[in-house]
Amino acid sequence: MAVFSAPSFDQHELVAFCEDRSTGLRAIIAVHSSQLGPAVGGLRMYPYVDDAAALDDVLRLSRGMTYKSALAGLPVGGGKAVIIGDPSRDKNAALLQAMAGFIDSLGGRYVTAEDSGTTVADMAQIAKHTCYVSGLDSHGGGDPSPYTAYGVYCGLRAALRQQRGSDNLDRVRVAIQGAGAVGSHLARRLIEDGATVLVADVNPTLLTPLQALGAEVVEPASILSQPVDVLAPCAMGAVLNAETVQQVRASIIAGAANNQLATPAQAQQLADRGVLYVPDFVINAGGIIAVYHQRQHGGALSADAESTLLQHVEGIGDKLGLIFKRAAQQLCPPYMVAEAMAEEVLLAQGRQAATEN
Ligand code: NAD
Repeated sequence: MAVFSAPSFDQHELVAFCEDRSTGLRAIIAVHSSQLGPAVGGLRMYPYVDDAAALDDVLRLSRGMTYKSALAGLPVGGGKAVIIGDPSRDKNAALLQAMAGFIDSLGGRYVTAEDSGTTVADMAQIAKHTCYVSGLDSHGGGDPSPYTAYGVYCGLRAALRQQRGSDNLDRVRVAIQGAGAVGSHLARRLIEDGATVLVADVNPTLLTPLQALGAEVVEPASILSQPVDVLAPCAMGAVLNAETVQQVRASIIAGAANNQLATPAQAQQLADRGVLYVPDFVINAGGIIAVYHQRQHGGALSADAESTLLQHVEGIGDKLGLIFKRAAQQLCPPYMVAEAMAEEVLLAQGRQAATEN
């Protein structure tokens, strides 16, 4: 399996392959950049079809974390870890202990947090064996998904302002793919604000409470092509490929999933179709912002600290406003503009560090 020539390898600082035969652990930790600070990013557990798929995911996700934190104004770098396995079958205390050992061995270059396939309880288990972990209930943290959902809500409204001059959600139709942690919080907020919410999930039990609030349930196979104003992908990555972008009928795509575009080419394809694609690594930064604030305080957040955190998350809408403005001036998809702006942050930090040395 190629690493340096893998399509998603992009000057990653460190890629660690972790195997522990006694527990069956096979994992990869990727630190894309620690230029702005220690690399922070979730620990994902997923039954990847093969090692190359796991490598591709961790390389893409860790790079996305660098860009996400840079644009969210956080002094942290980008990293991610993946465990190859089925969380419902293969996860146990011994496996998490072995994973914690590998994280600990990096001495803080990578700080982990929960992600798809891992929970706050798993982070507590890992924290018994390493201090390089965030998102613990005991640290006043825990599940970051309500903050991610709030950031998506703010970003979605920024996109409406950009396209319609108003962010009034009354009767705006939003199709949400995935009624998990983020998707369900988002759906509740939107329904409260008068939006019409369509929702799909492969796990029907998650849909019942949203249906009771007035959401319309649709089949997972048809959620991307619903005739709506906004499509919010909140399930998994790479849902927007050359084929599916042709099916999208929404004029805005604003969702939480990481790496929604199968390749960067889809950013241009969506722009060509008049669809405003809100860059995922900007709109879904609420969770990492929360993890950062909670880690800074090392305990339950005071009302003031919580308010500061919420203001930081609300800043996602303002940042997107700038990105949309620049995109319009440069006739360039917002996704490319956001990447360029993140690189500017990294370059500026590099120049500052050089001056100080
Ligand atoms: P989650 O696992 O709680 O929810 C995802 C949901 O998507 C699940 O309910 C799952 O059944 C559903 N799903 C999977 N395949 C589907 C399909 N084909 N059609 C419809 N539904 C499908 O995850 P989450 O924490 O809600 O995160 C959602 C996405 O946002 C993920 O891609 C995650 O990486 C990303 N994200 C999450 C956070 C966070 O704070 N949780 C932060 C940043 C990014």
